[in-house]
Amino acid sequence: MYRSTSALIMFLFASLFASNANAQTPIHQQFYDLFDSYKESSITDRYSKHADIEPVILSLSDHADFTVQMEGQSVEGRPIYLVKWGNGPKTVFMWSQMHGNEPTATMALMDIFNFLKDDEHADVKRRWSEEMTLLFVPMVNPDVAEGYKRRNALDVDLNRDALRLTNPESQILKNVRDRYDAMFGFNLHDQSVYYGTGEGNNEPVAIAFLAPAYNVEKDTNPVRKRAKQLIGVLNQDLQSYIPWKIARYDDTFEPRAFGDNMQRWGTSTILIESGGYDNDPEKQYLRKLHFMMLLSSFEYISAGKYESVAMDEYLSIPMNRFNNVFSYVIRNGSVVHEDNEYVLDLAFRVQEVLNDEHVLERNVSRISDVGDVSTFGSYEEFDADGFTIQNMMEFPEIFPNVEAVMAQDWKRLLRQGYGYFRVYGLDRDAVLRESAGMPFRVLLENQRAPAFPAIGEDVALLIEHEDGRQYVFANGVMTNITE
Ligand SMILES: [Zn+2]
Repeated sequence: MYRSTSALIMFLFASLFASNANAQTPIHQQFYDLFDSYKESSITDRYSKHADIEPVILSLSDHADFTVQMEGQSVEGRPIYLVKWGNGPKTVFMWSQMHGNEPTATMALMDIFNFLKDDEHADVKRRWSEEMTLLFVPMVNPDVAEGYKRRNALDVDLNRDALRLTNPESQILKNVRDRYDAMFGFNLHDQSVYYGTGEGNNEPVAIAFLAPAYNVEKDTNPVRKRAKQLIGVLNQDLQSYIPWKIARYDDTFEPRAFGDNMQRWGTSTILIESGGYDNDPEKQYLRKLHFMMLLSSFEYISAGKYESVAMDEYLSIPMNRFNNVFSYVIRNGSVVHEDNEYVLDLAFRVQEVLNDEHVLERNVSRISDVGDVSTFGSYEEFDADGFTIQNMMEFPEIFPNVEAVMAQDWKRLLRQGYGYFRVYGLDRDAVLRESAGMPFRVLLENQRAPAFPAIGEDVALLIEHEDGRQYVFANGVMTNITE
């Protein structure tokens, strides 16, 4: 639940930019509103590689306020850079993409560089640079960002290498922390889009936080307390943008993880996980929230503005529950199976298929659960109360290609219950690619319609009401085909 304290309200409304006409605009909102001006235009999606961010990082060397140095190299020899800004005593260390397929914060760090190097807002930046030294290591794990994978080139989960420090990427994190005795650390990740809060409407989690434990007892010392307090402020800020979509990660101590050890080594560490957000598959809105949260954090840290925050703020954040939401749920429909009807929920999850360039090619929607899923949330849903749901039929003819299917009056065929169309596809991948997102399924000539209801199947369903309403659910999309 969202709680407020008068102390928080007071500083949220302090003026950040002296020249700002609207001094009553909260600090976080001022940064939120500035995002579009500083968004790095060369980075547009989740699939940026080392070669995309390296020129952005190296260009910072031209600015007097920045120091850029190669801190080390990945297993495959890609340079990993430390970007340094400011000269103050409070050291704030941010590292992103320790897991290669978790890029949201990397995008935001590029945007933050643009903000820091701009001539505007000189007053606040002068104040920050006197108070803080900002240390950035973007894309800690560049080798597998290439293939959009989690583990590094040796197939090691770097987030389990904080004790042994076997991998060069891990050594970089430890060296930077120790050299600057970082006061704050931001450990920036992405998590599954299927975490839910379990509260409110059981919303998908957009942002999850953790002040990691530094021991098995999960004690709170002054180092961890600072992390919890800062998260408390960030949670309050986020209530303006994504209420009910913020969660707190389980704080069971993991002796090999970086967050836990950074905390143990004396750095107040904040884990931020980007989850999922409605209609934001490329996570550009979550990128914007990161821009807002990190810049706000600089303000809060430089001015010590988190110090009065009660620890209750942190504990009030709902828990981050794994696999608690689905992509799509069709609720309470009467599923037709061999002449009988059963009232069932049908829950679907999307599986992303990448192409040879390791970029998203298509989404496949598969049945993930059948039965009572009333305790689970979803990104989208359909109330099928009063509707019958049945698997669609294969159209008897085989078409030469996908275009020939499209040339049919397929809406009429859908209304008749035909939802699977076979083609003589020589190129299986092309057929699958071209048919993604259609309101029907395209099968290869030797493929049969999948079983239903059955977990794991990618089905086309006809959903009908006796009042004449008709829908098709296929490829993860509900389409109204009512005459
Ligand atoms: Zn991660």
